[in-house]
Amino acid sequence: MKTKAAVVYERSGKFTIDQIEISEPKDDEALVRITATGICHTDLAGREQYLPIPPTRAFPAVFGHEGAGVVEKVGARVTKVKPGDHVALSWNSCGVCPSCKSGNEPYCDNLFLYNFNGARPDGTTTLRKGDQVIYGSFFCQSSFSNFALANERNIVKVRKDVPLEILGPMGCGIRTGAGAVMNTLRPSPGASIAIFGVGPVGMSALLASVVCGCTTIIAVDVIPERLNKAKEFGATHTIHASKGDPVAAIRDISGGGVEYTLECVGNPKVLRQAVDVLPRRGVCGLLGVVPPGTEVGLDMDLLMNGRTVRGVLAGDSISDLFIPRLLDLYSQGRFPFDKLITFYPFDDINKAVEDMEHGRVIKPVLRL
Ligand SMILES: [Zn+2]
Ligand SMILES: [Zn+2]
Repeated sequence: MKTKAAVVYERSGKFTIDQIEISEPKDDEALVRITATGICHTDLAGREQYLPIPPTRAFPAVFGHEGAGVVEKVGARVTKVKPGDHVALSWNSCGVCPSCKSGNEPYCDNLFLYNFNGARPDGTTTLRKGDQVIYGSFFCQSSFSNFALANERNIVKVRKDVPLEILGPMGCGIRTGAGAVMNTLRPSPGASIAIFGVGPVGMSALLASVVCGCTTIIAVDVIPERLNKAKEFGATHTIHASKGDPVAAIRDISGGGVEYTLECVGNPKVLRQAVDVLPRRGVCGLLGVVPPGTEVGLDMDLLMNGRTVRGVLAGDSISDLFIPRLLDLYSQGRFPFDKLITFYPFDDINKAVEDMEHGRVIKPVLRL
């Protein structure tokens, strides 16, 4: 069937809105009519060919991995959802490796094959324009499209009384930030936390810190508008990182250091700061994405004294369990993540990307 999609025809190319064709769902897949989809930096990393997508399946391609919509059609073996269900799409995983079997799906041993293969794991493709193959299955969805094919495994059924158009980013950015606090760091009520970088991920972590009852919540960034927003969302203190030394400022505010920090920037210098402000037994969660091979210098003696640096993917969360919980919190007014979103019409995808890259918006979401 036909679908309107944003196609990238070459490395670093613009998104081109085009009419293409999408395959019928296989037995374990569902076709989803996309209502809205978030834009994340990982989409742009795909466009720049920074991801481990096989070069022979790189372009032309459809990206998009924060889709939400309504199930249109399901394959013969799908039992989780039926046509008409509201769903958020998430990351895919294999379900059979040791990580998946032990309930740690974000660390699936086959993560690349199931999310960055340019095609289904078996190599079959789902999109084309006439005779030309278009690569997709990006995070098993390629949701910059009116219709997307997802696997039953990366489809999350959601409650119908929450606006569907805000749900796309749940599958990636929002659960990544919120989960790092609620599932990984697990601060007790009254704890202190500093969040380095309050983009969509850091801001979601901030909202989760409020949910967890942290009483010192320090937001660090270099964009004044973001720091103002952080204050609105519950930050007790904000620090402009390029005006003075954030480590000294945090020590000053907290009387010696914060129990938890999150690095949401992807910068070795920032990671160093996020470790240096920890007191003994403090924990730093690493969320910022860097190119493979990036190294950081840390004070080994400091680490020796009980400090932890912990990398976190997808908020250590099982999306089927965690996303409904976040939506319950949202419904009670305790997790207002919708305030992070700026909507754009699908046709304005290039403008949305530009605004995101310049820090003018926190989480752009395309309405399809
Ligand atoms: Zn796996
Ligand atoms: Zn993402």
